Amino acid sequence: MPVPDRIAALTPEMTAWRRDFHAHPELGFEETRTAGLVAERLAAWGIEVHQGIGRTGVVGVLRGAMPGNRRIGLRADMDALPMPETSDVGHRSTYPGVMHACGHDGHTAMLLGAAKHLAQTRDFAGTVHFIFQPAEEGLTGALAMVEDGLFRRFPCDAVYGLHNLPQLPLGVVAIRPGTVLAAVDYFVIRLRGQSSHGAEPHRGIDPLPGATQLYAALQSLVSRRVDPHGTAVLSVAQFHAGTSDIVIPDTVEMRGTIRTLLPEMRTMMEGLFRQAVTGTAAAHGLAVELDYRRSYPPTINTPDEAALAARVAARVVGADAIRSDLPSLTAGEDFAYMLHEAPGAFVLLGQAGDAEGSAVPLHNGRYDFNDDLLPFGAACLVGIIHDELRDPAP
Ligand SMILES: [Zn+2]
Ligand SMILES: [Zn+2]
Repeated sequence: MPVPDRIAALTPEMTAWRRDFHAHPELGFEETRTAGLVAERLAAWGIEVHQGIGRTGVVGVLRGAMPGNRRIGLRADMDALPMPETSDVGHRSTYPGVMHACGHDGHTAMLLGAAKHLAQTRDFAGTVHFIFQPAEEGLTGALAMVEDGLFRRFPCDAVYGLHNLPQLPLGVVAIRPGTVLAAVDYFVIRLRGQSSHGAEPHRGIDPLPGATQLYAALQSLVSRRVDPHGTAVLSVAQFHAGTSDIVIPDTVEMRGTIRTLLPEMRTMMEGLFRQAVTGTAAAHGLAVELDYRRSYPPTINTPDEAALAARVAARVVGADAIRSDLPSLTAGEDFAYMLHEAPGAFVLLGQAGDAEGSAVPLHNGRYDFNDDLLPFGAACLVGIIHDELRDPAP
């Protein structure tokens, strides 16, 4: 396996860090233990450390031994999810109801491994910014760092991030230019009628018929209004009404998410959605309150950086193991906010192997990051720096 020996030698240490993070998972913007350990280790290796960026974010700055003006950002996410761990691996979560079910423990350990290696060798020309971000899971920690001056204080000519993927085998890497992950929007709809006795619905305005028709209308937006070659997902994930068998409720609340891959589709879906909500509510004499929130933009890789990352990954896992044909995923990533500020690429690393939990889907209670992936990920990160920050021509 062409992972350089010195990086492969870091595997036991990265594994120990990863399992320790796994056993002590922290929710978004609460990653004080994790961020503290990250900062402590970076400082011990002689890397300049900046803490508290975007609340619990950490940035390490390392200059190469050779002169160079280019600056490259490498990013990992540190947060866990509010869910119980249901497997009994030895390093399982010791915090009830909190779990690293997305592998951010592994991403943090890989970036630490790359940082340690690069701090020892400093065999590059320019500056590396190691970006450890908080709160990726729905809380827009990347945006918090950007708004806190991340790229003003630590400018990056390009920025790269990695994510593990249990649906691909270990040793396979998916990388492509263009949209990799979807835009993420959320909605809350409240339809208000007028409550009445269950025996006398005509004395009130029952919001349920309107709400169920709206539910059906929303389901037909994607199937009937969106070009079959385009991609959009609309999921009503919560539907709440009522408190009793003999009371017609006055309010129905529906909540959910819309995912799209292209900015035009995002705008179109929001328009169709608003029209369906207001039109259906009006037809049923219901008042409507709509909270529509645009969250993560789509994660879009720039072509040059995607090509560089693919070249680097091919050296690590072999050209045959690079997948450039994987369809865009309808999940979202707040690394998108960083790619909005600088060119770069988001690389997906297959992780399904012999290790328990490595093929279990992300955000499942039995998922576990595969430690066998650590040397591959660290080697890719180091390789990106070597290719981006080559010794300038004499
Ligand atoms: Zn996740
Ligand atoms: Zn994740």
